[in-house]
Amino acid sequence: MAKSDIRTCPACGGDMARDVRADTISYKGLTADVQQPGWYCRSCDEVLLEPADMQATDMAFLDLKAEADHLLSADEVRRVRRKLNLSQRAASDILGGGPRAFQKYESRTTMVSRPMSNLLRVLDRHPEALDDLRDRRKGP
Ligand SMILES: [Zn+2]
Repeated sequence: MAKSDIRTCPACGGDMARDVRADTISYKGLTADVQQPGWYCRSCDEVLLEPADMQATDMAFLDLKAEADHLLSADEVRRVRRKLNLSQRAASDILGGGPRAFQKYESRTTMVSRPMSNLLRVLDRHPEALDDLRDRRKGP
């Protein structure tokens, strides 16, 4: 085993090793089960999370937050965009949010805003409305 596979526990001085354990996150009364990677102590309850470890569960947290706040999840944003036959870039161009907005929503880097979420919900039910948005961009 490489020496980076073990580190010393700051709490008890024991060995810590990489592991992935089930954990539960909660937001506004909703909970989600996550698999939390991190450094787990073999002797006490200490857990150390590196930035990448936190990122893994941050994504689950964003999904949970979207659900609690009644916003579209990253997967739903992708589904609606594909239904509209738009690339991520074209969706950002037409619907707004910045040039890389959809790339960020769908990779769970950024939470979709409420106006964007609402707009996508409307377009999901009325995809033909996209033509109105397209035409408007040709104006002065
Ligand atoms: Zn420990």
